Amino acid sequence: MVAYVTYHLLLLKKSLTTLHAIFLVGLYVVLFFIPSVIWAQQYDLLIKSGHVVDPKNRINAKKDVAVAAGKIAKVADDIPAAQSKKIIDATGLYVVPGLIDIHTHVFVGTKPDKFADGIYSVSPDDFTFKSGVTTVVDAGTSGWRNFPLFKEQVIDKSQTRVLAFINIAGSGMSGKPLQEDLNDMNADSAALVIQKYKDIIVGVKIGHYEGSDWTPFERALDAGRQSNTPLFVECHLPQFSLEDQLKKMRPGDIITHSFEQVAERMPIVDEHGNVRPFVLAAQKKGVLFDVGHGGAGFWFSQAVPAFQQGLTPNSFGSDLHRFSMNAGMKSVLNIMSKYMAIGMSIEDVVARATWNAARSIKREDLGNLGEGSVADIAVLSMQNGKFGFIDAAGNRLEGNRKLEAELTVREGKIVWDLNGIAAKAWKQ
Ligand SMILES: [Zn+2]
Repeated sequence: MVAYVTYHLLLLKKSLTTLHAIFLVGLYVVLFFIPSVIWAQQYDLLIKSGHVVDPKNRINAKKDVAVAAGKIAKVADDIPAAQSKKIIDATGLYVVPGLIDIHTHVFVGTKPDKFADGIYSVSPDDFTFKSGVTTVVDAGTSGWRNFPLFKEQVIDKSQTRVLAFINIAGSGMSGKPLQEDLNDMNADSAALVIQKYKDIIVGVKIGHYEGSDWTPFERALDAGRQSNTPLFVECHLPQFSLEDQLKKMRPGDIITHSFEQVAERMPIVDEHGNVRPFVLAAQKKGVLFDVGHGGAGFWFSQAVPAFQQGLTPNSFGSDLHRFSMNAGMKSVLNIMSKYMAIGMSIEDVVARATWNAARSIKREDLGNLGEGSVADIAVLSMQNGKFGFIDAAGNRLEGNRKLEAELTVREGKIVWDLNGIAAKAWKQ
């Protein structure tokens, strides 16, 4: 084609008309120049000059992040702006993988006094993107029997990626007596449902049982073994001792409400301020400790000594529901800021809200900014000032830093933009 056009251009002086010349030059432009411009804009989105914290890939430095077709296309020191259709200046901001909240209750519905299909749960999109969260895991609000309704009603209708632990109780968190019916706790049925929806269901949950019979716990463990997924233990199990629960749990199983100090479960820190030896033994065995903040699940009297003695949480599950969102918990970002006030570094809080969380639910495709990964991204600002953080006992811990979500990207799409950094400047 080049030879064809050049040949004709050479002939111009001799025999062709001016009109013909214009046509040929135009053809040249169309064939060679325009495609090169289109090719140059190979990325849909370029987040420039932010401080990238990507624990999986051991990145903690100023980098550019390019997105194409919903995936992370490139992470590098300098990616030319001309190569992207849209540019976001993230100077002074942190760029991290979209946050993962492994403890939520989002099976929202119309039942007035229920979590399962009820108003005690919340709608995920209402709370996630504004705090940098792109993936939530529902903690057994649905069971193996009513999971399909949860999927149809919430999971399939949400922009947030919604994954789930399913409850060993078939009807999930449907209140008493249904959720304590041993006949409805079936390991084989739970394992079958997990297998059928293995792209969504990440494990089994045991959580609300007030009897002393260990059968529900054993069945939940059996379902976990059959499906090769972790067991998520939410400790509303007042007759089971903490020591026995931790002994029965396998490496990779997750205990939540780790830092609670309530009557229904022995606290992990004893009356002398020491983490109990059997708790440290469970940590050494590989049991994972999730925050599970909720309304009553997080106490400084537990979390601070535990942190000082090396028992840090593996993940920052929020236990988001109708009763926790406006109390001390607020959001995963607030839990991250709270832990910075306790003494954790920004790198360590990001790890717990991203890569650690992804690994604990065996979803290593998530929680990182590796090239080829889904483009779930949170751009965070670090606010400096005087802030207060509240625990379940109503105590305030002061801190001077607080994280805020400036921009959230879900599968390459901007879903939250606090100050319009991705929008065009308005001019009259
Ligand atoms: Zn919960």
